[in-house]
Amino acid sequence: MAGTAMDEIYRDCTILHVDADGFFAGVEQALNPSLRGRPVVTGAERGIIAAASYEARALGVKRGLQLHEARQKCPELVVVPSDYEAYSLYSRRLYEVLRRFTPHVEEYSIDEAFADLSGCSGVLGMSLEEVASQLRRAVRCEMGLTVSVGVSLTKTLAKLCSKFRKPDGQTILRREHVPMMLRRTAIDKIWGIGKSSVARLQQRGIGSGEEFVKMEPGEVLRLLHKPGFDTWRELCGSRVFPLSLNPKCSYDSMMKGHTFAPPSSDGVLIFAEAAKNGAAALAKLRRHRHLAKEVGLYLRRKDYSGAGGSLGLPLYTAVDSEVIPFVRQLFEALYVPGETYRSTMVWLGGLVAEEGRQLDLFEETAQRQCEAKLSKVVDGINTRFGQGSVIPAAMLDLASKEWHPRDATPERYGRLLRGELVRRLAIPRVTLSNPV
Ligand SMILES: [Mg+2]
Repeated sequence: MAGTAMDEIYRDCTILHVDADGFFAGVEQALNPSLRGRPVVTGAERGIIAAASYEARALGVKRGLQLHEARQKCPELVVVPSDYEAYSLYSRRLYEVLRRFTPHVEEYSIDEAFADLSGCSGVLGMSLEEVASQLRRAVRCEMGLTVSVGVSLTKTLAKLCSKFRKPDGQTILRREHVPMMLRRTAIDKIWGIGKSSVARLQQRGIGSGEEFVKMEPGEVLRLLHKPGFDTWRELCGSRVFPLSLNPKCSYDSMMKGHTFAPPSSDGVLIFAEAAKNGAAALAKLRRHRHLAKEVGLYLRRKDYSGAGGSLGLPLYTAVDSEVIPFVRQLFEALYVPGETYRSTMVWLGGLVAEEGRQLDLFEETAQRQCEAKLSKVVDGINTRFGQGSVIPAAMLDLASKEWHPRDATPERYGRLLRGELVRRLAIPRVTLSNPV
């Protein structure tokens, strides 16, 4: 279609937000069609619900609920262990489908993304309604998931829209209809307005989005400061928050934690858990090409009290053998024999990107180079054959632990997803036909 007529339809209403419905549970249903239409929750390994399908939500089962409570509410509940590998793969597929419509995509979270359709009207040759429904159809047909889509003037308004008809809905909100939407929106449902801001606004009798946008700008600024003021402007239709188009490339810290069941007072086992978390955090560090200068350990007791500490590392590193001994040192300082623990967490701090770091000649010994090479080989094997194919020796002690239902791993771990060539890294290629 001619550019001008389409451009008129798009005008300033070009920010799209897509949000997968009950994402983790939805992926489980997509992977295992026998779960479709049934109340499914994930989080078997934690004993707490991480995500609930809409069928489960309809029965009053929500995220954060203890599993035993959920089973009482809903005896037919299907509980599966989390399969984060599959979730991140599906997440990338979702971004990829979205990128067929526009290259301007912000990967906002594992199951949410923003996109800017401006300048795409001529290319797509579709109305906004068609773009949203084509996107939903593509995700449904190719991935077996439902998503909700909102399109409006700004990120804040688009996010309101995607929530408006959920699950499996779409809402296009043009400038003339914004006041109507804000009238129906409670102040605590607005993205970016936190609890304390809600309380301050409610104190002044502001209960809806409509009442909020009618406030004087000066008063908003005084009451909520810059972040709240920016949100106010976005609701008024001014684009304040830009899309962040670059994937995250620098990190301040990385952590890995795990709750084991049942809680244990066996020091060998608890250290093995800590070593496993340390190795996982280091593998992540290497994957993101960073080095750490600090390591921390936190041990949580059965009664949820805990103890933690940290140590500076002598050199910037991402190598197991240069970090795990310090985890051991921390463990020996923190662990109290006879106490019962439920989880360990290891974090790495003082991070710098591997590139761009000044090479210190004293740091580069032959041994260090060998260790770095070894880590790369181990990561390669674990990528290819599945996490945990090669593990630090301390983790072997985990084998002495008695099996518990929470130790269940996803059934899928034995096989690859459709289109997945090796574990984890290959982005599956589904049919890449253009929607036009
Ligand atoms: Mg979601």
